[in-house]
Amino acid sequence: MKVRNWAGMGAAALGAVGTGLALKSVLPQRFITEQISTVQEEVPDNSTWPQIEVTFLRCGHVTLPEFLVVRGAASWAPHVNAYSAVLIRHPNGTFLYDTGFCSDIYAFLRNQSVLFRTLLGSFVFEQGLSSHLQQLEMKPDDLDFILLSHLHWDHVSGIPDLPGVRLCINRVEYDAAKSHASDRGITPLIWQLMGDNPHELFDCAGPAYMGFRSTYDLFGDGSLVLVPLPGHTPGNTGLFINRANGSRLFLVGDAVWSAENYIRPATMHPILWSMFTSDDASARQTLIDLHHFSQRHPEIPVIGMHDAHMQKAFMAVEEKRLIKA
Ligand SMILES: [Zn+2]
Repeated sequence: MKVRNWAGMGAAALGAVGTGLALKSVLPQRFITEQISTVQEEVPDNSTWPQIEVTFLRCGHVTLPEFLVVRGAASWAPHVNAYSAVLIRHPNGTFLYDTGFCSDIYAFLRNQSVLFRTLLGSFVFEQGLSSHLQQLEMKPDDLDFILLSHLHWDHVSGIPDLPGVRLCINRVEYDAAKSHASDRGITPLIWQLMGDNPHELFDCAGPAYMGFRSTYDLFGDGSLVLVPLPGHTPGNTGLFINRANGSRLFLVGDAVWSAENYIRPATMHPILWSMFTSDDASARQTLIDLHHFSQRHPEIPVIGMHDAHMQKAFMAVEEKRLIKA
């Protein structure tokens, strides 16, 4: 056989393998979720839950085809990923969970690589955090602290609008980010965005809660309960909000991008999943835990920090509730 024929056959074989892999990458992947979780949940004491106001502050978005967001969706339908902060007003303190974007975010991204700016920096900017606060007639000083779900650039990008406000960070997350400080290109950006803001580390060392293995009860009244949701990053941290004046909710950082991720359950497209997941096994376990949780508690919205659809739906209910009140 001539060399040209071998080359032709090789190319055809590689093409077939490539097509097969591309096809496989969008097909659903089996998750072991059959064994219904045997989690013993105590009914929480709601007598101490105060009134808490929750407001999503959307700062930007990116539109992706759905098959990239949910493996197995096999659809090009546009899916909006938001970049948001959440303003939480509890009688004992007012704070943000994550920070969206500062008004000057592009200046911080200017020195990043072309690859970074193309892949991650091509979002649509909508409204900076300082503008959101002004609209709410608030100043950065009105915030008692900022709680960070995890230390990725797009969750700390609003901090430059909030100089001096204390950052609360899961110790596991902080230590992991520190240990990668020298070998990940984007980590210096994260430290730059965090600026000189003082920080305080917390440990999720409290008892199991709602099927999650450990907790940190933020104000000690059972209304704001932090739980580890590892995998996306080592210390990605979720927040239960339990209140007297509206539905409970569960913010889950970047454990999911879309509710479909825990409903099916399904990861993102494998290429994105591997790019954005620090530990595959624990991230999958977290998805399974959220899948079981959402089945046990369909009444509690589980909302990822990029889940534009769920955030909008939640705010629509909140606005109606506030109009009635
Ligand atoms: Zn992230």
